[in-house]
Amino acid sequence: MNAPIASHYINGQVVSDSSGRALSPLSSPVDGATLGTVHVAAKTLVDAAVKSANAAFATWSTTPVKERVQVMFRFKTLVEANVDTIAKQVTAENGKTHAEAVAGVLRGVEVVEYATSIPSLFSGELMEVSRGVDCYTRRFPIGVVAGITPFNFPAMVPMWMFPTAITCGNTFILKPSEQVPFTSLMLADLLKQAGLPDGVFSVLQGDRETVDAILDHPGIAAAAFVGSTPVAKLVYERGTSANKRMLTLGGAKNHLVVVPDADPEITAKNVVASAIGCAGQRCMAASVLIAVGDCDHILDAIEAEMRSNHVGCEIGAIISRTAKQRIEGYIERAAHRGAKVRLDGRDVKVTGKELGNYVGPTLIDGITVGDESVNDEIFGPVLSVLRVATLNDAIKIENGNPYGNAACIYTTSGATARFFELNAEAGMIGINIGVPVPREPFGFGGWNASKFGVGDITGPDSINFWTKTKKVTEKWTAKSSNWMS
Ligand code: NAD
Repeated sequence: MNAPIASHYINGQVVSDSSGRALSPLSSPVDGATLGTVHVAAKTLVDAAVKSANAAFATWSTTPVKERVQVMFRFKTLVEANVDTIAKQVTAENGKTHAEAVAGVLRGVEVVEYATSIPSLFSGELMEVSRGVDCYTRRFPIGVVAGITPFNFPAMVPMWMFPTAITCGNTFILKPSEQVPFTSLMLADLLKQAGLPDGVFSVLQGDRETVDAILDHPGIAAAAFVGSTPVAKLVYERGTSANKRMLTLGGAKNHLVVVPDADPEITAKNVVASAIGCAGQRCMAASVLIAVGDCDHILDAIEAEMRSNHVGCEIGAIISRTAKQRIEGYIERAAHRGAKVRLDGRDVKVTGKELGNYVGPTLIDGITVGDESVNDEIFGPVLSVLRVATLNDAIKIENGNPYGNAACIYTTSGATARFFELNAEAGMIGINIGVPVPREPFGFGGWNASKFGVGDITGPDSINFWTKTKKVTEKWTAKSSNWMS
């Protein structure tokens, strides 16, 4: 049987175009079931999407924001009503557990909720700056914009972008990861059901070829990107050199610091949830644990907690066979260098899902500074432990890694927590929280090699990113006589 084609979505229509280059057929990470084939949207299809988005922009951008937001109210209700179905699709193509898939969709809904408050956040400013002279600002959408997204959150990461961009009056083209092409089509369908006019939201399937065509297209004014750091840098540079407004979020290497006074039980549960949730395939996952001083009792609790989680139940699948082999390579090389693999997730099998890609929870003790596990993004359920004497040593190691998404500390001391918070080089700090994702109205965004561009991808910065402002200075001649006469 031929694998189904992952359609594009242009001008409110599902477009089953197979003229583009075909990528390797996709199979589910869960059990190897055939999912479909992506045909890459080439320049002509990108152009068709931009033309329809541009035509839609004329009407959508001048629709009052109080009307635009009504679509998002209906969309939110529709996503909530369909969360189970969307989550099943997320699991099939991404491999995460159903509970994780539901949580990701609902996290996306929180951004939709934020977008529904845009009418209250959107008003400009007015001040009399001189006698009889006013300055005021008025926001405008920027035009046809694009979002390029990774495999690891097929619903949530696109929802970081398009609800705000669209509610601000832009028309939006989504290029989802070629590894998870189907979930975005469900979102497109729900947006249509919510009453979004045709052409305001489009989906183009593809890989680098499609991304390059988007970045080079003169009809696209801005793009947001989420993915790995090398690609985030390339995309940022290519987009900005084409004079587009760009924000690109990259990879991460999150260091969690534990000090001896931390609560062992709370710390163990929280650290393990961060390290193995989404099978470690999230940019906020714990990857390195730095134990300050004697933390053996906490490490023992972490190992016990890890052992109580099982692949195929609490832990989902790895996106691809290649990714699984890459992760296993890191474990093998660490063992080879003499680190102690306290729990080894290689060679796990899930009964009935033998063709799925799984790696079990892995705890590697005795990693040393300079080891590849300290700086490389492994993106699997692997926690590497480094031992140091002082909190300063821990902060120095954390700050020495190239990324800067999250850094966390586990302690019962407020002073220790504050010292860490002030000195760790990361955009998102967790105190006794291993996945410190800020919730609206706070914005999401890292530092250093985890982000290229200015501002956060959600929250108030996102409204600034998806709009441009006119500054108006006005003076009306004051007449002493009754001007109405
Ligand atoms: P990826 O960089 O391989 O792909 C991301 C997107 O870029 C995809 O749509 C892909 O088609 C496109 N792409 C790939 N290579 C390209 C190239 N050479 N030129 C132009 N476009 C290209 O990332 P991934 O493997 O899908 O996702 C995992 C990565 O995303 C991890 O590094 C993870 O940390 C990161 N991530 C970061 C955040 C964050 O908020 N910082 C959130 C989620 C994921």
